Amino acid sequence: MNERDSESLAGFLRQMGYDEAASPDEATILLINTCCVRESAERKILGKLGELRKYKLADPDVIIGIGGCMVQQPGMSERIQKEYPYVDLVYGTHNLHQLPVMIEQCRSGQVVDVWNSEGEVVEDLPDRKVDGIKAHVTIMYGCNNFCSYCIVPYVRGRERSRTPKDIVREVTNLVAQGVKEVTLLGQNVNSYGKDLEPAINFAGLLLEVNKVEGLQRIRFTTSHPKDFDLELIQAMAKADKVCEHIHLPVQAGSNRILEEMNRGYKREYYIDLIAKIREAMPNVALTTDLIVGFPGESDDDFEDTLDLLEKVRYDNAFTFLYSKRSGTPAAEMDGQISDEVKKSRFQRLLKLQNVISLEHNRALLGTTQEILVEGPSKNNKEMMSGRTRGNKIVVFPGSEEMIGRLINVKIEEARTWTLIGKEI
Ligand code: SAH
Ligand code: SF4
Repeated sequence: MNERDSESLAGFLRQMGYDEAASPDEATILLINTCCVRESAERKILGKLGELRKYKLADPDVIIGIGGCMVQQPGMSERIQKEYPYVDLVYGTHNLHQLPVMIEQCRSGQVVDVWNSEGEVVEDLPDRKVDGIKAHVTIMYGCNNFCSYCIVPYVRGRERSRTPKDIVREVTNLVAQGVKEVTLLGQNVNSYGKDLEPAINFAGLLLEVNKVEGLQRIRFTTSHPKDFDLELIQAMAKADKVCEHIHLPVQAGSNRILEEMNRGYKREYYIDLIAKIREAMPNVALTTDLIVGFPGESDDDFEDTLDLLEKVRYDNAFTFLYSKRSGTPAAEMDGQISDEVKKSRFQRLLKLQNVISLEHNRALLGTTQEILVEGPSKNNKEMMSGRTRGNKIVVFPGSEEMIGRLINVKIEEARTWTLIGKEI
């Protein structure tokens, strides 16, 4: 979501006649787009903001700006003004479309403009520079779920959906520029469309986007288990471009913790949902997000999470140490867990998941997989890299003219994070 916002910001600047600088030394505008989901991100950003002071000292005409999620937190814009007085521009998540006006205004003094609430969905975002064959397309903004640990609903506002017409137009535009795969983005894509008239749901949107000619693959993130219904499972199975991969964050395996987290489902419901998904799409790849060390998490609660991992057997899991976010209910809960306990649980979770991930990859040995070729492999420039429909990275001998093509690759070697194969 933040990357997509950064693309929009770059688009606005390009419309104003600016171009990307090769390095910060050469830049006349330096903008930081921020995240505050965990404290570690926030610490990094403030460090970076401190570093930027030297550019202002070297050239007082340089514009330094900071915007996005972190700035949206109560007290943060005041803190930035006080501790980083050389910052010219401070804005939030709801007014980034005003960047051109704010840039002009800050030439005559510091601009601080953080809106408290979201406005209408803004549709005239600038065309972006398409880089490569994959693109993110935001289908909705905000979140209504208020999981007790999460700051997103406070900094991104309530759910607002873009119309299917606007989304399909954007996807068609991207395809005309060479994009082959789109990822539809929202904090909870399965509640897409609830605020639209005429009514449409996420399953309906998938079927619409599936009709875009020239598009090869559709992915989406993130889905919330409580809203993942049968209609969506059927739409996924029916729409040929929709890849068989679902990122379905479970967060924890203990019913008591799930309740404290305000997730709106129980582990039994979740395990049953996975069974239904696998029944409709036997080859589906499943990934998840997990939080360790939520306040009050006991050893038994944590064992329930390990047990859930064994039962579901995800292809991959993103594991986070619980981070206290001020203003969220969990920050005030008793039983905050020490860093040592969090870290040791984190390591156990990682170890178990790595074994499971490798098992999943080994099961693909000898099979033929459809790969969308993305470009040279990061670690070995002699090899090309792409992803399976299940979103697994495959590395194989090839050349740059293969980029953007769908090819069949036979899997010959399986590692925890990558598969290695040969085109057939
Ligand atoms: N809307 C998405 C993504 C939310 S943020 C979803 O519901 O899945 C991405 C992930 O960050 C979450 O899934 C959660 O695992 C993690 N996260 C959010 N707040 C956190 C916190 N306070 N501490 C640690 N991890 C957190
Ligand atoms: Fe945060 Fe929960 Fe909304 Fe995801 S669904 S953004 S975790 S509040």
